[in-house]
Amino acid sequence: MTAHSAAHAATAATGAAAAATALTPGDALRPAYQKFAVHVKPSRIDGQGAFAAEPIPPRLKIGEIRGESISVAEARVRATRSERIMIVELSARRAIDFSKSADPMRFTNHSCQPNARLVIRNGRVEFYARRAITPGEEITVDYGETHHEGRLACRCGAPGCRGAL
Ligand SMILES: [Zn+2]
Repeated sequence: MTAHSAAHAATAATGAAAAATALTPGDALRPAYQKFAVHVKPSRIDGQGAFAAEPIPPRLKIGEIRGESISVAEARVRATRSERIMIVELSARRAIDFSKSADPMRFTNHSCQPNARLVIRNGRVEFYARRAITPGEEITVDYGETHHEGRLACRCGAPGCRGAL
């Protein structure tokens, strides 16, 4: 996601070397709801992306994003103020703003041919593998209905890409 600077990209590059060791400090700090190691680094699709750092079997939960619980009304206001926003509406009344979340899954990009799916359940935003995901592969989901209303060009590059979000 594009809000991140070149300085972050440099950090991601050095982080890739650290990932080769068995347990990095990042792994030790990983919350229990992040089931598989995921690294954030520059994506061909858009800005930063979430990349598998270990094999992920089909159907298993990859992780979650936890953020700030807000009203849908507040979410709509925030969406008009910011071009890049990460809000998921949980219901007609509640939404979660992930803009300040440290969870790596918040960088998950959209693909029209995704390898993961997003599940909203009991106020949680969870990610599950649709198929086996290999280390180094970018994790993607179908954003589905978004507030971009087809105004944001899709650059996922998948066969059959819808062309817009
Ligand atoms: Zn696409």
